[in-house]
Order: sequence, then C-alpha cells, then structure tokens
Amino acid sequence: MTDQLDDLTAMSRILGQPERDLVVLGEGNTSTRADDASFWVKASGTRLEYADRSTFVRVGFRPILEALDNPRLTDAEVGEVLRSATIEGGRVPSIDTFLHALCLQLDKVVFVGHTHPTAAVGLLSSANSRAIFEGSLFPDQIVLLGTAYVYIPYADPGLPLARSVREHLEAHLYRRGRAPRVILMENHGVIALGSTAEQVINITEMLVKTCHILTIAMTAGGPRFLTAQHVERIDTRPDEQKRRGDLK
Ligand SMILES: [Zn+2]
Repeated sequence: MTDQLDDLTAMSRILGQPERDLVVLGEGNTSTRADDASFWVKASGTRLEYADRSTFVRVGFRPILEALDNPRLTDAEVGEVLRSATIEGGRVPSIDTFLHALCLQLDKVVFVGHTHPTAAVGLLSSANSRAIFEGSLFPDQIVLLGTAYVYIPYADPGLPLARSVREHLEAHLYRRGRAPRVILMENHGVIALGSTAEQVINITEMLVKTCHILTIAMTAGGPRFLTAQHVERIDTRPDEQKRRGDLK
C-alpha cells in the first residue's frame, strides 16, 4: 500500500532526474500536506534525485506561518523556528519550508514542487523576464498552466522571499478568484502547484516546454501572444475543460 509520502518521494525522484535538467545537487524541494495541522517537506542538504522517506520531515503549519508575521526574526532565530516546528524526522527542514507552508494553504493544492529548470531560470534571469511571461502562446499551455502565473521580483531566499510570495499570491487570488498553477521567481526558479503528485510533474514539464517555445519565438522575431478572447475561449470551452481533466 502506498501513502501520500510515497507519492511525494516518487514525485521528487522524477523531478530530480538529471535528464530533465530541473535541478542539480541539492537544488529544489517538494512538499505535501500530512494533515490539517502539518505537512511533509524536503530536509535541507538532501537531493531530490535520491529521495526516500527519510528525505522528508513533518512540520507544523502554525509556527511556520506565524514566523511570516514576525519581521524582526534574525537568521539564527529562523533556524530555531524551523527546528522547533519539526514534528517528525531527524533532519532540519529546508529554508524554503516557509514557501511550501504558504502554497499548501491554497485551495486544491496538495503537492508542491519547487525546481530550478535551466530553461526557465535562463528566461527568468533575462532583461525582460516579466514581460515575456505575461502572455499565453499555445492552447495546451493554458490547459495545464492556467491563464496567468504569479510573478515574484527577486527577493532574498527564506522569509523575505516567502513574504513577497504571500503578498503576490493574495493579489492574484483577489484579481483572479482562483489559485494559480505556477509561481515564477525572478533570477531563481519555479513552483508547480498540484492536487496530485502527477499534476506537479505535468505542470513542471509543460512549463519547461513553454520556456523552450518562448526561447524559439524570441529568436524568430519575438513572441505573438494569444489574444485575451482566445485565451478566455480555451480556458472555458467544455472540450478543453475535459482535456484538462484528462491531462491531469
Ligand atoms: Zn530555489
């Protein structure tokens, strides 16, 4: 019998496969909800490629989310928050645990995958990164990734980045009325948000493909984004809704 931690382990190993070019060494981290009060997250210093059950620690939501509201925490105190929030597992949770706690609060988000795909970080490190991720290029991109990403300007990893993500997530929810599928972090990496482990893999894969297509479009005169009407049509037409279910 497999449980959600097994799904998280399998998802992590797939995201860590070297041929996918999503992470190297200890880059990236993943998580899933354990229960209403806690979640599993990758421990610091472990590798996605070699993930097993001992790669993850179970952490309480409450102390992690409360730390986001305390702007005076020193780096040493942040380390102490991470250690004391750990309920199960013998390692220290990743510094990105704050990000995972926030993402797992979103409606229908049960699995989270944070990676540094070369194809995406290249574009996110480019001069016009915000503008090139503002539009949609092709139908399956919309089906898998939704109509809009959450875009985060560069911030110091850890609490400053998590606070910026919280602010931008709230603005996205207010404007769009639904949770995003993708968060893009400038000069850093991406976060895929899924209701299943498979969905996180599919979203990451489609995002990487989108980045390759964007790169090609930029060498061929620049991207031609779909019109707002076309995007809306793909997002709401019944056969595409069905396909969205199939692709998940
Ligand atoms: Zn990262």
